[in-house]
Amino acid sequence: MTMSANARALDVRALEPVRALRAGLRRPERSEAEAAVRTLIRWAGDDPEREGLAETPARVIRALEEFFAGYAEDPAAILQKSFAEIEGYDEMVVLRDIRFESHCEHHMAPIIGTASVAYVPCGRVVGISKLARVVEVYARRLQIQEKLTAQIANTIDEVLKPHGVGVIVKALHHCMATRGVHKPDTSLVTSRMLGCFRDNSQLRQQFLGMAG
Ligand SMILES: [Zn+2]
Repeated sequence: MTMSANARALDVRALEPVRALRAGLRRPERSEAEAAVRTLIRWAGDDPEREGLAETPARVIRALEEFFAGYAEDPAAILQKSFAEIEGYDEMVVLRDIRFESHCEHHMAPIIGTASVAYVPCGRVVGISKLARVVEVYARRLQIQEKLTAQIANTIDEVLKPHGVGVIVKALHHCMATRGVHKPDTSLVTSRMLGCFRDNSQLRQQFLGMAG
């Protein structure tokens, strides 16, 4: 109970529609987005019309399309197909070190890291690549690591309804590495434990050991 109240307070409910869609915000035209990049180049002190920069706004927008492709995808839908023929398998399933690239919502700077995802199935399992896809879809949005971690765990919990879910995320934040405090070797570790991973410290330790 505390857990779901907590999740709501953090506004990280897995199945929440993307805020921009809910608010009915108009998506700018590509030409408007490219003009915004030209403005930023001028603001940085360079000439967006010079040869080397002429194609840059178009390239930046194509890169942003890739970085933020996760807004167009529904992570819950990825987990919809699951398999029940598992011969009573009820031990932990762990997918370790799923590499991801995300962007922090405070600086739009890269967050590069790995996620380890575990769950204890309750009658159903999903294809393991689907767990990696869920990580990827949430990563390809503007994020803070705490929210990313919670969204991955909450989605698996809500859609697959396992006995428990554990997620550990370790990442390097470029907004800390290349600006601000300039700490390039510092990584942030976050975790979210639900169900049996929260209640059973032995299971949690086992997962932490495997993901460490
Ligand atoms: Zn940042």
